[in-house]
Amino acid sequence: MATGSSRSSNLLVSTMAIVQQNTDDISGQGFDLVEMLLAEQRDLSAVERFSQRHDQHAGPLLEPTYLQLIPLTEPGPGEQYAFEVDLDACSGCKACVVACHNMNGLEEAETWRRVGMLQSSVATQPAVQHVTTACHHCVEPGCLQGCPVQAYEKDPVLGIVVHLDDQCIGCKYCTLMCPYDVPKFSETKGIVRKCDMCRNRLAVGEAPACVQSCPNGAIKITIVAQAEVTVQSSAGQFLKDAANPRITQPTTRYVGRNRLNAQMQSAGTQELTVNHAHLPLVALLTLTQAGLGMLIASVVTCLLTGGGMVTAVLATVVTLAGAAAAGAHLGRPLYGFRVFLGLRTSWLSREAVLMPAFVGPLVGYAASFFVPLLLPFQTMLGLAAIGGGLVTIFCSAMIYIVTRRPFWQASLTLGKFGTTIILGTLAAANLQSAISTGTASSIASLALVAVTLVRLVAEYQLLQLHTQELSNPLARSARLMLGPLAPLSWGRIGLWSLGGILLPLAVLATGGVVSVVLASISLAAVIGAELLDRVLYFSAESTPAMPSLPK
Ligand code: SF4
Ligand code: SF4
Ligand code: SF4
Repeated sequence: MATGSSRSSNLLVSTMAIVQQNTDDISGQGFDLVEMLLAEQRDLSAVERFSQRHDQHAGPLLEPTYLQLIPLTEPGPGEQYAFEVDLDACSGCKACVVACHNMNGLEEAETWRRVGMLQSSVATQPAVQHVTTACHHCVEPGCLQGCPVQAYEKDPVLGIVVHLDDQCIGCKYCTLMCPYDVPKFSETKGIVRKCDMCRNRLAVGEAPACVQSCPNGAIKITIVAQAEVTVQSSAGQFLKDAANPRITQPTTRYVGRNRLNAQMQSAGTQELTVNHAHLPLVALLTLTQAGLGMLIASVVTCLLTGGGMVTAVLATVVTLAGAAAAGAHLGRPLYGFRVFLGLRTSWLSREAVLMPAFVGPLVGYAASFFVPLLLPFQTMLGLAAIGGGLVTIFCSAMIYIVTRRPFWQASLTLGKFGTTIILGTLAAANLQSAISTGTASSIASLALVAVTLVRLVAEYQLLQLHTQELSNPLARSARLMLGPLAPLSWGRIGLWSLGGILLPLAVLATGGVVSVVLASISLAAVIGAELLDRVLYFSAESTPAMPSLPK
């Protein structure tokens, strides 16, 4: 120990001697090392110098530049703020995307601003045009109208469409209502979020992050007259290969002299992307519709013969399973009770509020077969449940029809949802008849075959559209169903053929337990086919949102 300690002392003494020697040497040449080190300590670091420069300015250093990119006044009556994108200036560098991502602390896969691409459709005149895009802060925002809990508001002065994160229950309906695929669902947060035009920055005279970051000054905030936007949107004027502007009246102005009016088309026209399947919604829609069909079969049987217990119980179990599946679709199910708030504008609110008018009487009707006290009300409960079910499922259909996506148009949506009810009714009536009388109902069996054939013909006609141009969204859906989604598509047709044609015919030739078994399989196969059909309803929907930006 003693030896080690004396070695350390010797080392310290010799080091100090060397430093003193060096200092004397340098001082002798007019250079004071100690003074230099002290001066260096007194100097500021690069970061400190940077922040000091900013402290000396009331606003951002490049304020004069950025102030040219934002309005200096608030919009007047009938006006609002809007993005203006100079396509001639946009080079597709995505600085705006990065700035937005960092500024808003977005998750890795979350993007509020994206850059798509248009390309020339004329081989002899090649051209490429990048298109930066974010929320269009629409005059008639679909997101706001569809939200069942009023988690959106449109600023009455600035016109900015703002999402209220705390209010959101994560139902994702706004992602379907927005034609431009703007609101993004966060799995970790259980809510959607979107661009708010950096309104907090605008409030203190700073440009939004995307505006400020663009090295070419391609994005700016401008003031637009809403009436003018309405006129232009009604005339279909917005951007090539973007969603129909008539739906929500987007306010973003795309300007530029060079390529905007050339014969451009989305660079992703030939790309087909399978959409989200929304499995809880598939279960909700199919099972409530099939449940209503079974209920109708039960009530008719009850009125004609006094029976119908089995189908009443089946209808209740299937419908309750469908209604329960809806909860799995919510990112924040504990806040689902707020769903009535959007009743004035949202079909989703209406569906949710009316669901008890279907399920309540349905449970009472099924219970009336077991509880003598309810027996006098049996018919009334059954008819009330049918009425409630029809209105609820009409609301379900409207949820999708109002999005104005061609694949969800009224004729297709009502046709699909209606067929599920009818097939459920006929297959359940067959089963009830087989159980009650030992033989299937020939009327129900033949009607089941006829309706299934009509359904198959309708699907065949839809699939035939695959030969058309991919600019037609229905052709895109048909190609998806014959391409990556073909296994589901053919599986559905197989189940329809089995449950709606082969088994109903076979059941007519049998009796007793065999007919009950065959009728049960027929009902299960028909519901299976409808479940697959509803998966395709979501995953084969392929309406373009913005050029070459897949959903
Ligand atoms: S672009 Fe979509 S999210 Fe933005 S306001 Fe319009 S409808 Fe709503
Ligand atoms: S509650 Fe639903 S519709 Fe409303 S903002 Fe949230 S996800 Fe969108
Ligand atoms: S305005 Fe703000 S939130 Fe909107 S895209 Fe630009 S940076 Fe993102």
